[in-house]
Amino acid sequence: MTIRTGVFFGVAAISLLDVQAAAAQGSRAPKPLAPLKVIDTSYMDRSVKACVDFFSFANGMWVKRDTIPPDYSNSGVARDMSDRNELVVRSVLDDVMKRRASLPAASTPRKLGTYYASCMDSVGAEREGMTPIKPQLAAIDAVNSRTALLRQMATMQMAGAVAGFAYGPDVDPHDAGHYLGGFDAGGLGLPDRDYYTLKDPSSDSLRTFYVDHIVKVLTLAGDDPTRARDEARKILALETELAKVSLTRVARRDPSALDHPMTLEKFGQSTPNLDWPSYFREVGLAKPLKRVNVTEPTFFKRLDALITSVPLDEWKAYLRYHAIDASAGWLSTPFVNEDFRFSSKFTGAKELLPRWKRCLRETDGTIGEALGEAYITKTFSPQARARAKAVIDDIRAAFGERVQKLDWMSPTTKKQALDKLAKMREKVGYPDRWRDYSSLTVAEGPFVLNVQRAAAFEWRRTVNRPGMPVDTTEWGITVPTVNAYYNPQKNEMVFPAGALVPQTFDASVDDAANYGSLGGSWAGHELTHGFDDEGRHFDAAGNLKDWWAPTDSLKFTREAQKVVDQFDKFIQVDTFHVNGKLTLGENIADFGGLLTAYDALQRALQRNGRPKVIEGFTPEQRFFISYAQSWRGHVRPEALRTRVTVDPHAPERWRANGPLSNMPAFAAAFGCKPGDPMVRQTSLIPHIW
Ligand SMILES: [Zn+2]
Repeated sequence: MTIRTGVFFGVAAISLLDVQAAAAQGSRAPKPLAPLKVIDTSYMDRSVKACVDFFSFANGMWVKRDTIPPDYSNSGVARDMSDRNELVVRSVLDDVMKRRASLPAASTPRKLGTYYASCMDSVGAEREGMTPIKPQLAAIDAVNSRTALLRQMATMQMAGAVAGFAYGPDVDPHDAGHYLGGFDAGGLGLPDRDYYTLKDPSSDSLRTFYVDHIVKVLTLAGDDPTRARDEARKILALETELAKVSLTRVARRDPSALDHPMTLEKFGQSTPNLDWPSYFREVGLAKPLKRVNVTEPTFFKRLDALITSVPLDEWKAYLRYHAIDASAGWLSTPFVNEDFRFSSKFTGAKELLPRWKRCLRETDGTIGEALGEAYITKTFSPQARARAKAVIDDIRAAFGERVQKLDWMSPTTKKQALDKLAKMREKVGYPDRWRDYSSLTVAEGPFVLNVQRAAAFEWRRTVNRPGMPVDTTEWGITVPTVNAYYNPQKNEMVFPAGALVPQTFDASVDDAANYGSLGGSWAGHELTHGFDDEGRHFDAAGNLKDWWAPTDSLKFTREAQKVVDQFDKFIQVDTFHVNGKLTLGENIADFGGLLTAYDALQRALQRNGRPKVIEGFTPEQRFFISYAQSWRGHVRPEALRTRVTVDPHAPERWRANGPLSNMPAFAAAFGCKPGDPMVRQTSLIPHIW
């Protein structure tokens, strides 16, 4: 899962990239699944030396035994946990689906049941074919001016489709207590701008594949094949123009590169061909926007030029393709299959997920807070919440002690860091207040239309936020999600209940196991994001403001470069290396999280007493095994190839071995000696947190 709660700055998250766009048919009866353990010694391969390759020592037998299911791009902790959560969510959805006719008409459970039922109606989807989206395509066809074109982009954005660029209210970078209007680059059909610009054979063939895919989609919609091919080439050319002026993911890691606040009037002067008043009438803005942030002014200047230089018919072909593409996964089988053929090129999945999984994920992704409450009552007790919170609070305390002891940081910067830590908000388990779905309309009938209604509901819910105070109670992911995040603009870390179950956490096991996984890979990791290469640029209130003494900033950058160098050397797949700069924030978070959690464990052992050896391992050894097992996983090569381009996370093996090899306490726990592969040369070890 990728997480995106704001237009400006990426929210740092923990999970595997899951670009598994869905499509297809079939509904298998789900099998009951064995419970997961925080430490499972049967996963370990004791024929591998701990000091040589700790990832394989901790997970090797599992990797040997496991086969990635044909409908997945990866396998491991995140999928195992999701599979179990999804069975719970499914029972909730099946229940409201069956009972929906008897539920009060305007109630949230009735809407939830109807939404899921309309998705599960595969017969209806076949019968309707592309009929449900015909009015949309007719509207695109009727576009006869540049102003009408921009209005049509607005309509499509509100329905959740790719259309030219991205707009949405977001937290003001310099006044984190209020929202402003946020313009961002966008408009691309491939997963990253690099796919359009790289000159290697693999990127060339992906572009050819993309053109073929557009031709198939347009032809399925009834267009003439020759004309469709001509249009597909022009669509690729248009998107390439947008890609060329879009920042790379590495460039976007620097928050100041995305910081261009201005009045809407000033923005309008730099984009005279884009009729913004008309755009904002279309999206339903009640009062004129005063302040906006334009993350990539160069992009919008170019877009403004392209609006007039590219013939209107080419723009219309571009919108037509993206309108169909946005709905393809929920239309009849030929569309669904083509949609899957395209996405599987980037995931390597061999089969579609069963329909119930695709419907469940879409329901969770679009109206997920409607099912959070029911999920909680089945899975997450107040006691479990309290125990998880206690571990997280221990991590906070341990991080504070580490900051106080840092030898490279000046007292003034330390004071600011500790202030930021003290003010960091945490959300654990579930929201205190659930989203109000009373203005959402859900109807029996084509699911595509319900998806569009849900997207429009989200727009209405947020469109008039600019100028208003920021809602600090809002969650960026749903409760059953196996993920967590740190949001620098709200200075908050968020851990949904879906992540606070085994294998992450189990209130009944030893501290060492819980501190290695929940403490290190989750809580310590998210907390450290507040102080990584990106997060450190935001202050305690969430404002983009430099609170660092210049010499401390220099020292941070110098040590961070050691992390970049370390990860640049790791292989991702074939000849593709990990991108040390792209993954820097995650790698700093992993290492800082691990060190902090280790300290927190020592405090807990002092407080609660040292248990004897468990399953043959000391508490310290169990801590490191738990940490490494939290990265248990493997990924298809196609997905690894995608991840090297788009994912700020390194592959699991390196997320375990990279930080562990930097840590003397790890070497001590397993008796590793200088020169062992798991022991990094002292001068190369980064000293950050
Ligand atoms: Zn992260």
